[in-house]
Amino acid sequence: MFWEREVELLPREELEALQVKRLRETVARALSSPHYGKVLGGKGISPEDIRSLEDLRRIPFTTKEDLRRGFPYGFLAVPKDEVVRLHASSGTTGTPTVVYHTRRDLEVWADLVARCLYMVGMRKEDVFQNMMSYGLFTGGLGLHYGAERIGALVIPSGAGNSRRQITLMRQFGTTAIHIIPSYALKLLETFQEMGLDPKEMKLRMAFVGAEPHTEKVRRRIEEAYGIDAFNSYGLSEMNGPGVAFECPYKEGMHVWEDSYILEVIDPETLEPVPDGEEGELVLTTLRREAMPLLRYRTGDLAFVYPDPCPCGRTHRRISRIKGRTDDMFIIKGVNVFPMQVEQVLMAFPEVGNNYVIVLEKAGPMDEMVVRIEVREELLGGGIRKLEELKERVKRALREEILVTPKVEFVEPGGLPSGEGKAVRVIDRRSEVRGPRS
Ligand code: ADP
Ligand code: ZN
Repeated sequence: MFWEREVELLPREELEALQVKRLRETVARALSSPHYGKVLGGKGISPEDIRSLEDLRRIPFTTKEDLRRGFPYGFLAVPKDEVVRLHASSGTTGTPTVVYHTRRDLEVWADLVARCLYMVGMRKEDVFQNMMSYGLFTGGLGLHYGAERIGALVIPSGAGNSRRQITLMRQFGTTAIHIIPSYALKLLETFQEMGLDPKEMKLRMAFVGAEPHTEKVRRRIEEAYGIDAFNSYGLSEMNGPGVAFECPYKEGMHVWEDSYILEVIDPETLEPVPDGEEGELVLTTLRREAMPLLRYRTGDLAFVYPDPCPCGRTHRRISRIKGRTDDMFIIKGVNVFPMQVEQVLMAFPEVGNNYVIVLEKAGPMDEMVVRIEVREELLGGGIRKLEELKERVKRALREEILVTPKVEFVEPGGLPSGEGKAVRVIDRRSEVRGPRS
């Protein structure tokens, strides 16, 4: 079950010593980039100052804003001709950021991804269909090279074109897929249209990630497809996939700490929070040549599991991502994360696989409308049944988020959905006021 046994099982003490050594190298490399040259140089920080992991705290954080300001080459730490590829973030929260890789960076990345896939049992005999968009987005090529490294047969099907995806699965006996969780649920509609049962495929596992999703969504995917689904976390600033991945115990994602330093901070005070307590993930690359990043504030919220994993890997585990700090919205004075809503909705078996939260101005008050697809079976059951369900959903939501939303039901497949990351919140509250002058 180990792709790089020795590293994956490295005793904590040695792992931390390795981190210190690699951090020192990383600082040395980073100093060659215009950004860190200025920031570290300005503070007089040199590689020799890094003697323990504590010394990391002397280095300032790096933010997405810094990356944007440094566009295009402000973070490049090697001569441009050493760079063999670039990737960019999806731009979910604004201008995309760009990340460069040397040939060796790509090798290391492929190995990290291979480590993840091998950990959950993917082998060279597997047929792997990569249903993520290829191109600047890292989910495509990132998983692609990791799976090839293991020796699996890779079908680079890319995102979308649902009927073709299913046809490919049948023709080539796909055993493993990489898929965005919301799309995995959406694809079930196409199976139905084609008169096929996903359980009749040869599928045995799915790697799901790129967007927040709840345990209940994972369960739904597992049950509908009859497979194991493993959570995969990454971000283009840290390569992409291959940063953290669930092991067969499916209890948190191991962060590859020989390659990244993980910190969890309070996003307000910027102070570290103890294990088990939720905070913002901060990551430092330890092996990247082209574009080392120090203490990068990911904006993603999670906690660290305090105890070691029964699988024996010494690399610490992070929880499911609750969302980004800026996913949170405020309605009637209450802070809400979309995943809190998902958690409630998906507990109702009558509730279908898609939903969207719309925030509107309704007179002087804001209103939260939750649009939910319901199951086909429910539509024939008469209005009373639907109204009764609506009340139960409302009550459950109020209990969780302390606000009573308006609930609207839509037929299965009735909500718009794309092939990429799902849009869970549409905020129309500022539209009413018209354009700012
Ligand atoms: P963007 O930040 O523009 O979406 P990326 O494509 O680099 O660009 O996406 C990385 C982000 O996607 C992460 O910072 C995180 O917010 C989200 N993400 C990735 N994997 C997961 C996951 N398994 N669970 C929750 N969120 C995830
Ligand atoms: Zn484990």
